[in-house]
Amino acid sequence: MRNNQQKSILIIGGGLAGITLAHQLLNRNQLVTLIDDGKNASTRVAAGLVNPLVFRRTTLSWRAAEFLKEGWEFYKELEKKLNTTLVEPIRIKRVFPSSQERDEWTKKEDLVEFKSHLLKIPSSSNGQSYGIVKSGYVVHSENFYIKNHQYFDDLGILKREAFDYSSYSPSESCYQGIVYDHVVFCCGYRVFENPFFKDCQVKPTKGQMLIIRHEGLPETESLHLKCFVFPMGNKMFRVGATYEWDNVSLRPTKKAKETLLAHLTHLTKTLPVVVSQPVGIRPTTMDRRPVLGSHPIFENTHIFNGLGAKGYLMAPTMAKEMMLYLLDNRAIAKEYSITRHQTL
Ligand SMILES: Cc1cc2nc3c(=O)[nH]c(=O)nc-3n(C[C@H](O)[C@H](O)[C@H](O)COP(=O)(O)OP(=O)(O)OC[C@H]3O[C@@H](n4cnc5c(N)ncnc54)[C@H](O)[C@@H]3O)c2cc1C
Repeated sequence: MRNNQQKSILIIGGGLAGITLAHQLLNRNQLVTLIDDGKNASTRVAAGLVNPLVFRRTTLSWRAAEFLKEGWEFYKELEKKLNTTLVEPIRIKRVFPSSQERDEWTKKEDLVEFKSHLLKIPSSSNGQSYGIVKSGYVVHSENFYIKNHQYFDDLGILKREAFDYSSYSPSESCYQGIVYDHVVFCCGYRVFENPFFKDCQVKPTKGQMLIIRHEGLPETESLHLKCFVFPMGNKMFRVGATYEWDNVSLRPTKKAKETLLAHLTHLTKTLPVVVSQPVGIRPTTMDRRPVLGSHPIFENTHIFNGLGAKGYLMAPTMAKEMMLYLLDNRAIAKEYSITRHQTL
């Protein structure tokens, strides 16, 4: 029986945003229904790397330390719930493209905020010089997506179907005859289909990767120079990823394959065997901040989107903030509120 603390919440989109929000709400004993049409194009193809650094600028990502810690705790807790392995620590090796970047890195090593993330570069290192990020981890993206959907299926709260916008009445937050306390759209790059958030400035950024077999690459660390190379076990690796703005085609291209193979030559001279070429589409924003909040008129119609290229780092904390907004009226900071996109 429903108690008066419980709200009924419909989430549309069962990618990273919808999954993390569903768990944050279920942890508060709310009544969640999730709709996903299975056309996931980002969460399950992502490399799932959680890296607190922005290499190009040798800076920490936005709220990196907080997101890293909360994310780790969230994914570890989820492993127990789902009875599977989702997350593992990984050394992330940045091969420096220039002596300037190496000098910049050396300057940062001793700063308090970087100390827990960087391993000191050995002064005797020669050959290809590099720095190591020691605080990163990887979320096994495909397993994360599949096991979460199985879990929601077992709870009987997942509807594997397309959301029909014409059957939704936002003034009553009523979908197909059922009135919800809150309806939250977590549709990733497909926000452009949504008539209620037309002004949301989340844009699609296509990303292509290669899955390769290779005998010589390291199996215990992730390498970064021009591209990333990421071990998957049994001599298989992900190589990625490209960035193509405003492109929603899910077709792999020859050009992307050639670009990635050319990038790979900076890390190994041995040719790989290309096994496949996954394609995904990230929901990105110009200011690299997510988008949380409500419709300006229909106050029970909400959005949680814009997780961009670092969704696995941001999602657990951002989903928690979205949950606190829905259940406790906790304000959303302007920096990542939908109000920054709304004109009304
Ligand atoms: C190539 C690539 C590599 C990446 N690598 C990393 C990485 O290493 N680390 C990292 O942190 N991030 C990475 N990302 C980014 C990460 O994948 C995204 O930030 C994240 O997955 C976005 O999640 P989302 O839930 O917002 O969107 P999505 O994963 O796109 O999920 C949206 C869901 O909504 C559903 N949906 C949409 N409309 C409807 C509808 N009308 N009815 C029903 N269902 C609907 C879709 O089927 C989908 O399942 C990568 C992305 C790509 C493409």
